[in-house]
Amino acid sequence: MSDEKIPFLDLVTVHRELQDEFVDILKTALGTAGFIGGPMVQGFEEDFAKFCESRCCVGVGSGTDALRFAFIAAGVRSGDTVVTVPNTFIATTEAISQAGARPDFVDIDERTYNMDPEKLRQYLEKECSWDSGAKRAFHKRTGNPVTAVVPVHLYGQMADMDPILDLATQYNLKVIEDACQAHGAEYFSKKENRWRKAGSMGHAAAFSFYPGKNLGACGEAGAMTTDDEQVAQTCRLLRDHGQSKKYFHDIEGYNGRLDAIQAGFLRAKLRHLKKWNGQRQEIAHRYNTLFAGVEGGVTLPYEPDWSRSVYHLYVLRVGDRAQIQKRLDEAGISTGIHYPIALHLTKAYESLGFCAGDFPVAEKAASQVLSLPMFPDLTARQQDRVVAEVLKSVSVVQGSGVS
Ligand SMILES: *Cc1c(COP(=O)(O)O)cnc(C)c1O
Repeated sequence: MSDEKIPFLDLVTVHRELQDEFVDILKTALGTAGFIGGPMVQGFEEDFAKFCESRCCVGVGSGTDALRFAFIAAGVRSGDTVVTVPNTFIATTEAISQAGARPDFVDIDERTYNMDPEKLRQYLEKECSWDSGAKRAFHKRTGNPVTAVVPVHLYGQMADMDPILDLATQYNLKVIEDACQAHGAEYFSKKENRWRKAGSMGHAAAFSFYPGKNLGACGEAGAMTTDDEQVAQTCRLLRDHGQSKKYFHDIEGYNGRLDAIQAGFLRAKLRHLKKWNGQRQEIAHRYNTLFAGVEGGVTLPYEPDWSRSVYHLYVLRVGDRAQIQKRLDEAGISTGIHYPIALHLTKAYESLGFCAGDFPVAEKAASQVLSLPMFPDLTARQQDRVVAEVLKSVSVVQGSGVS
């Protein structure tokens, strides 16, 4: 076996293949000085809305912008509480706070790592009281109205949306999907008896095109999708200083526009996304096969029959993660941890007053998850070596092997 280094993510090969096309896009932008707005942005928005099976798409500066604008446009206000999960990237809760609301959490499902709808139900039934006049659930301890819920489609797999949407209807909550890791993921809705795309199920959804995402720009970019033209229109105002036309500001907004050159690059890459997602799925299934039958030591990703994950990440659970990660690193195999600290225990949220043990499933996952190399160009040979090294590290660290 070779000692070739295996990266966690390879962003060089894919862009080398697209280089000529990207240079043409750059030349078009330079030739027209069309850097902000214009046909490249509109063209991408139309294509991405279609891809997500959503009516509207508004291109913005980042996934964080998309979340923040979606919350504000959906009606989240200062003093509200917005519920999400503790095992997400901090952008989810930053955007909640930046919209003026207080982030709160419910625990996750042990197998999918996504929001557990039953925990959401318990939160609404036990920790909140329903005010039938205001048609709102009020959080008992803070007194805040709970106005929105944010299922995060983590690692490329959609949350169990049917029961979440039912609870949202029952408790008058807006549902904002954090689809920043789930471009093209699908969910089989039993209620509708059909497959639904990420970003088409909630009142609005946020996507990130950070370079490492399944659809990544060559810089910062994001988008929100919605079926509600009013919500889309408010997001168009919010991203551009609240302007309905130049220097006529209907509201105070932000500088959160999608760069036209990035939109051009994204539009070109979007044409390949289905193929790339398919390659990720094949790689994930091959990892599963290679790991199958291994006694103990590693827990594989779980994909329920109602889910088609796009495997933004391929995540194992292992005991003694630090040791295993160190050994893999020494063998030249880069891995990641998404994420090492559940957000309720992170320093920035000390003031929210949570403690260890509040969300035990998310906490346990945070201590055990390990993301293996995953990108469309990962070769079978590289995969074989990753799996061999993981199994070797696990058996050595767990004492069943010889070091
Ligand atoms: C990447 C990511 C974001 C933030 O996107 P940016 O484009 O970096 O602002 C938000 N939520 C999740 C789950 C993400 O993975």
